[in-house]
Amino acid sequence: MKELTMVDLKSQYLEIKEQIDTSIQEVINNSTFINGPQVASFKNNLATYLDVKNVIPCANGTDALQIALMALDLAPGDEVITVDFTFAATVEVVKLLKLTPVLIDVEEDTFNMSLDSLKKAITPKTKAIIPVHLFGQCAHMEPILQIAKENNLYVIEDTAQALGASYTFSDGRVQKAGTMGTLGTTSFFPSKNLGCYGDGGAIFTNNDALAHTIKGMVNHGMYQKYYYDVVGVNSRLDSIQAAILNVKLPYLDAYNQARQKAAAYYTQAFKHCKHISTPATSEFSNHVYHQYTLKITNGKRDELHAYLKEKQIPNAIYYPVALHNQKAYKTENVIEENFANTNRLIKQVISLPMHTELETEQQELIVEIILNFFK
Ligand SMILES: *Cc1c(COP(=O)(O)O)cnc(C)c1O
Repeated sequence: MKELTMVDLKSQYLEIKEQIDTSIQEVINNSTFINGPQVASFKNNLATYLDVKNVIPCANGTDALQIALMALDLAPGDEVITVDFTFAATVEVVKLLKLTPVLIDVEEDTFNMSLDSLKKAITPKTKAIIPVHLFGQCAHMEPILQIAKENNLYVIEDTAQALGASYTFSDGRVQKAGTMGTLGTTSFFPSKNLGCYGDGGAIFTNNDALAHTIKGMVNHGMYQKYYYDVVGVNSRLDSIQAAILNVKLPYLDAYNQARQKAAAYYTQAFKHCKHISTPATSEFSNHVYHQYTLKITNGKRDELHAYLKEKQIPNAIYYPVALHNQKAYKTENVIEENFANTNRLIKQVISLPMHTELETEQQELIVEIILNFFK
């Protein structure tokens, strides 16, 4: 049996080695390392895949979030609502730009933004909402977009964990994650659903004016050579990374299907264990399982974590601390009750190996060891 790992990027590479090697060599042969033709074609290919008007590549998913916020007419002190249960990058950029992050609770079943908490968090200072499509499943965008519309708020979808997922509106319309809000952002970090071989990211929008602003902003705020209209940043997707992504994009749906198949195996296997709650699916979103995350409901998550470590079964706890209790993001007068779900989830969640090359034989072993723990 192959070695068990949380992700297996090496085996995935070997399946497409020839195409990848050729694409990288081509960039080196032409030496167009920055802004080569691969970047332009990837931008177009991804826009077609997502069915969105504009894709602006950048250096990573954190930059994508920061640049998205920079492109909106926000001022220091404006409030940006996001979730308490996410990777820190989502809130970090809000703070960096001197905006005020307002952290809210998530839904207990989907781990995504709580609609009740969202409604309660809106104040006259609120300007934007950042829903995160956590672990590969879309946040409930239709009501979020409705709330945003009623209150005149921007919506930035953090799609770092859910590229390729889709959301179904009540009228039957289907849209890809990241294309529903004012702006969408993603990351091509190697372990994400569409990963490159280094850092990478992108911003999506159907708003042409915002797309124009962002295109200059990622390049020092330059719209005409050596004329600087706004303060920008230097955030580019390398040609080599774009070349790799061009090879991998056509496989994204198959990769997500492989994740779904592995997830279905786990879910079926854990069905009868009463202390394990398997990932919830929703009627409005499919799930592309960036993570396969269980909830351990008998209070023994930490014991299971230690047991799996001893048995050499890779696993991870995303996320062990609620953001509102992190030193960098602590706020005054927090009412812990407002974070009831996050506070419970950080003690219950555990993520299992999940990737495109997971073999049944490997899953059998993982499942057997976990079920033995509960015997
Ligand atoms: C990975 C991730 C990011 C940041 O992406 P990087 O490319 O690592 O900067 C942002 N938000 C979420 C939810 C993520 O999972």
